[in-house]
Amino acid sequence: MSKLLCRILGCRSAAAFFLFYCEKLANQADELTSRGMDMHEMAIAEGILRIALDYAEQNEAKKIREIGLLIGEMSGVETEALEFSFRMIAAETMAEGAKLSIKRIPLVGRCGTCGREFHIEHYDFWCPECKDGVLTLLSGREMQVEYLEVD
Ligand SMILES: [Zn+2]
Repeated sequence: MSKLLCRILGCRSAAAFFLFYCEKLANQADELTSRGMDMHEMAIAEGILRIALDYAEQNEAKKIREIGLLIGEMSGVETEALEFSFRMIAAETMAEGAKLSIKRIPLVGRCGTCGREFHIEHYDFWCPECKDGVLTLLSGREMQVEYLEVD
């Protein structure tokens, strides 16, 4: 087994690429909603599967064992729904049975007035130091494939 670090996918442009996939697929997901599936997670699972299969093929892998994901607190992704969707669409591909290893990235903001960095909880965006409400989001909106474990 070897670990492929998805450097291409770790940068900003790749994240945008990932989101592009998700949006495109969400538009095609009418059929899924009529079957009662969650469209958001299904579209994300499709994006993850495509990226993983492309990357594994480029690296001449035979089987994908594990997929490492970085998912921000604010991305609104439900772990169980994502795992369920992924299991369903990965069947009969080389990613069948692959484990999704999900690392949650905390939602962190920096205050524009005093510069304090803080963890945003319960969508409370006010600075705890100076109570100012103008902040920059530093992390928490990620949806990225970080690595693949392959044979
Ligand atoms: Zn502040």
